[in-house]
Formats: sequence, structure tokens, C-alpha cells
Amino acid sequence: MSYRAPTAEILFAMAHAAGPGRGMAGGVYPDLADGAAVAIVEQAARYAEDVLAPLNQPGDKAGARLANGVVSTAPGWADAYGRWIEGGWAGLTAPEEAGGMGLPHLLDSACLEMWTSANMAYMLCPMLSAGAIDALARHGSPDLQRLYLPKIVSGEWSATMNLTEPQAGSDLNALRTRAERNPDGSYRLFGQKIYITYGEHDMTDNIVHLVLARLPDAPAGTRGISLFLVPKFLPSQDGSPGARNDLRCTGLEHKMGINASPTCTMVYGDGGGAVGWLVGEENRGLACMFTMMNNARLGVGLQGVAIGEAATQKAAAFAQERRQGRPPGYAGEGMAPIAAHADVRRMLMTMKSMTAAARAICLMTADAIDRSHREPDAATRQQAGERASLLTPVAKAFGTDVGNEVASLGVQVHGGMGYIEETGAAQYMRDARIAAIYEGTNGIQAIDLVTRKLPLSGGAAVAAEIADMRETLARVGRLDAPAFAAVRGPLAGALDALERATRYMLETLQAAPNDALAGATPYLRLFGLARGGAGLANMALAAHERGEQPQMIALAQFFAQNVCVQADGLAAMVTDGAASVHAAQEAFA
Ligand SMILES: Cc1cc2nc3c(=O)[nH]c(=O)nc-3n(C[C@H](O)[C@H](O)[C@H](O)COP(=O)(O)OP(=O)(O)OC[C@H]3O[C@@H](n4cnc5c(N)ncnc54)[C@H](O)[C@@H]3O)c2cc1C
Repeated sequence: MSYRAPTAEILFAMAHAAGPGRGMAGGVYPDLADGAAVAIVEQAARYAEDVLAPLNQPGDKAGARLANGVVSTAPGWADAYGRWIEGGWAGLTAPEEAGGMGLPHLLDSACLEMWTSANMAYMLCPMLSAGAIDALARHGSPDLQRLYLPKIVSGEWSATMNLTEPQAGSDLNALRTRAERNPDGSYRLFGQKIYITYGEHDMTDNIVHLVLARLPDAPAGTRGISLFLVPKFLPSQDGSPGARNDLRCTGLEHKMGINASPTCTMVYGDGGGAVGWLVGEENRGLACMFTMMNNARLGVGLQGVAIGEAATQKAAAFAQERRQGRPPGYAGEGMAPIAAHADVRRMLMTMKSMTAAARAICLMTADAIDRSHREPDAATRQQAGERASLLTPVAKAFGTDVGNEVASLGVQVHGGMGYIEETGAAQYMRDARIAAIYEGTNGIQAIDLVTRKLPLSGGAAVAAEIADMRETLARVGRLDAPAFAAVRGPLAGALDALERATRYMLETLQAAPNDALAGATPYLRLFGLARGGAGLANMALAAHERGEQPQMIALAQFFAQNVCVQADGLAAMVTDGAASVHAAQEAFA
């Protein structure tokens, strides 16, 4: 069964996941009105289904190849990229001054989900370019913007993100790549970066690397890191790619998944120095890179949703075809489709509702990013910015955990066939695994949520988020329908648990920071399931009011009664679990 883009479901989530008067239905998106969103989402769906999906399994088998410093992508990849450029997809959210369409992140997120469901390994390349566009548009000098932005926005050139070094993964304090000043204002870079996604490939005429490095007189630690733009080919003044820069790909990793995405070891400057230009100010590079990383963190959260959706579709189709056993009371002939068994139903409902909850969180995050730019009132823009900051680690980590769990359930639904590569269920599981690791591991996301995001505005941002969820709960409480009565109790329980755990975190952060950190991951999970449960309830309420997407009511009910009910346990892990976590010191002595 090949992937079918769930356009109606995604458009509904864009309009209603964030609640009434929010999301696409909320008035700050004139550019999505009058059917514009529907038209673009449907066009993006065709690119996903017709161009990207057929390349997914063959690409996984073929992988990317390195020979004599040249990386060849899988057969069909370059043609698909040509059609990406023709479609103008690379500039969807890019500024109009640079040739982009200036469309909202909400729409981009919807498209990114579909494209990634169809082919995650391929979409990493455009996703990273989109992050670089954001970083350059915000922090690049006018000269850099003039020379590079239009080419990346058109898709003619791609871009990469170079942070990781062998000794510097989660901890960027340890970065060693160095940059030296040239008299003409440019810089020369020397060092090695590892795991660079699409660091080298054959789909574009040039590759623009955004590289973190240290200047000789830089202060130690992360306050001494600068960001440089280092192109593969040095462009001439008319913008055409000129001389080859002093950088090269020396190796490709053999990976568990996303096999068609080249993961490169990059060496800069072993022939005299790779020429680069500063982005933003010296020693302030991490802040600029965070523009790119925040964009990419939402994108990676959406990878979890995307794989979750594709895995669910495949499992649901298989469960209708495969026949085994007969459930009690089954009236049909012979063996029943496995979809008739209660345990398989549980797996399928878990897959679909978890994916829908993670989608709701990602779209809320995208909406908050858009509102932080689009709301007319400055204070509202500021609140939306804080909301985006708060939700980004949740979108990334909860989204990718869901992607992993759902892909694994997808294999389980297939039984032995799931373990056999032919079905494609195993590829989803292999591809999904990395999403919880890169762009800041999910552990690092949980630490970010607890230590940086909960204290935003003295706790006001998280308090506003919980109040928003309580408003949804109140609306659920005003409805008589039995499905909503079933949502009410578990959702209320999840919000109480989140409030309790949040209070504990805010109190403990200063007094016993290691105890707070011990509970960071269950806290993020708790946040995700409360926020996801409230998002699903918003959509169920809209479905009830409008008579559309009736399955949303069943999904909200299932999620409340089977997932939200885990909240008390998670809260207890946060508030009471620290000592048992620290016992690792004795257990592993
Ligand atoms: C396929 C692939 C593609 C990638 N693409 C890119 C790319 O394009 N550009 C790029 O720059 N990088 C890229 N990366 C690198 C990726 O971002 C890192 O692997 C990731 O940030 C984790 O770093 P690490 O591997 O060094 O793990 P480590 O930092 O060594 O972490 C190991 C474990 O320790 C935990 N840990 C580490 N520090 C802490 C802490 N302070 N508190 C609590 N727990 C901690 C982590 O959560 C993790 O579980 C890619 C990696 C892969 C595998």
C-alpha cells in the first residue's frame, strides 16, 4: 500500500487543533483564505504521492555513494529535486524580497508532514535549506543575503548545518573548528565536522554550509562561537558558482535508516583554509544557529508525525487484508481480518490517536511562530513568541517519540511480515529512530523545556498554556454527548497532574536542580500528552459542532481514556522519582 496524503485531516487540524479563533480559522492568515490553503496542500500532496513516495523504498535500498570525493544520490533523486525547484516549493515560507512566497509556517508544516511521510531521507535536504534561509534572512549581512538567499530560496543551491564534531555533540562548548580573519573581511576555516546531512550531493550546483567555529581570541565556551557561511563553490559577483572552496567530504556514514540521505564527514581547510563569511556578530553565532535549529526542531517533530502517519496507513491496510483467527462473536466466514481483533484495534487506535495528537502539537507550534510575526499587537506577538519557545521542545521530542512508538507498533501489526523489509514497515521504524537523536536529543529537549522554557516570564508562559488547556476542558464539560463525558475526567486528571508537576519543577529547579533534571523526560511526556489530549479535544469539539471529520471524536475519546490516564504515573515519576534515578550511582558501581 503506498502513502496517501491525508489532506482533509491535515487541513482540519490546521484550522481547529489550537482551538476556536486560533490556527488557520483565526484571522491572521489572509493568505490562506478563499481556498488558497486547500489548493496548496492538495498540490503538495500530489508531489508527495506521485514524485517522492515511489522513490522511498528504492532509495533506502540504493543509498547514497561516495567515490573520489563525489556523492551520488539514489537513482531518481536529482530528477525529483528538479521538480521541487520547478514547483517553487523551496521558497514557501521565504521572504518575498528574496523571491519566496512568504507563506506561513502553519502551511509549510502541513506540506512538510506529507512530503516527509512520502520520503523522509529526501526531505532532509530541503528542510535544512529552509532553516538556513531563516537564519540568513534574520542574521545575514545585506551582501550575503543578496548573493545567497535568492539561490537557496529558488532551490538552485542547498544548505547545510554544521555543528557536530567528534568531541562536540550535545555539548557545543567543546567545538574546535577554528576561523581566522582575512584582511578583506572574510575568514578562513580549519576543522572537521561529522554527521553533516547532505554535506555533499549531486542535486544542486552549489552547497552553502553554515558552520560553527571559534576565532583565535574568542572567549571559552559557547560565548566564543561564531557562525560562518562557507560555500562549496565561491560565487562570482554575478552569482554563478566559481572556484572550488577548500572543503571536502571524506566519508559517508553507514546508518540504520534514512539510507538515501548522505551523512557526511566534512573537512574544512586542509589546503590553506576554507573561505567563509561571518553571519551575525563574532562570538554570537550560537544565537544565529538557534534560529536555524528552532526551525529544524519543529521540522524534526513533524518527521515523527509524518512517519507515524505513513506507518499507521500501512498497518491499517495490512490489518484489513491479513486473516488470522476469529474474535468472539465474529459472524463472517473463515478466518477474520486481524483488524477485527481487540488487541489489533488497540494498536491501530493508539497509532492513529498518538499521531493526531503529535500533529496537533506541531501545528500549534507553527501557529505560535506565525503569530509571533503576524499578530498586530506587540504584546500578543511577544506572548506568541514565548508560546512557540515553550512548545518547540515538546513538538520535537513528543513528536519523535510518537513517531518511534507508532512505527514500532506498525511492525507489530504486520507480525513476522513487519520484520521483513519487503513490506516497508521496518523502513519506517529504522528511519524514525534518528529523529529522537538529532537536532538535540530528546533528553536535551526535556532539559531545555524544564530549565529554560518553564521559567519564561517567571512561569507565566507555562501558566498561560495550562489555562488554555483548561479552557478546552471547560468547553468539553459543557457538552452532554457521552463521548465528551468520557474525555472530561481523564483530560481533567492530566491537567491536574501537569499543574502539580509544573509546580514541583519550578520550585525544585533552584533548590535541587539534579532532582528536577531527573524528572525532565517524564515531565515532557506528561506535557505532550496533556497538550495533545487538549488539542484532540479541540478538534473533537469542532467536529461535533460542524459535522465534519467525525473520527476526531473517537480519537479524542480513545486518547483520553488510554493515554491521558497515564498522567498521574508520569507526575509521580517527576515529583517522587528523583532519588531512585540517582540510585544509578550505586546500581552501576
Ligand atoms: C544521521 C545523522 C544526521 C545528523 N545530521 C547532522 C547535521 O546535519 N548537522 C550537525 O551538526 N549534526 C548532525 N547530526 C549530529 C546530531 O545532532 C548529534 O548526534 C546529536 O546532537 C547528539 O550528539 P552525540 O551524537 O555526540 O551524542 P552525545 O551528546 O554524546 O549524547 C549521548 C547521550 O547522552 C545524553 N546527554 C548528553 N549530554 C547530556 C546532558 N548535558 N544532560 C543529559 N543527557 C545528556 C544524550 O541525550 C544522549 O542520550 C546528525 C547525526 C546523525 C546520526
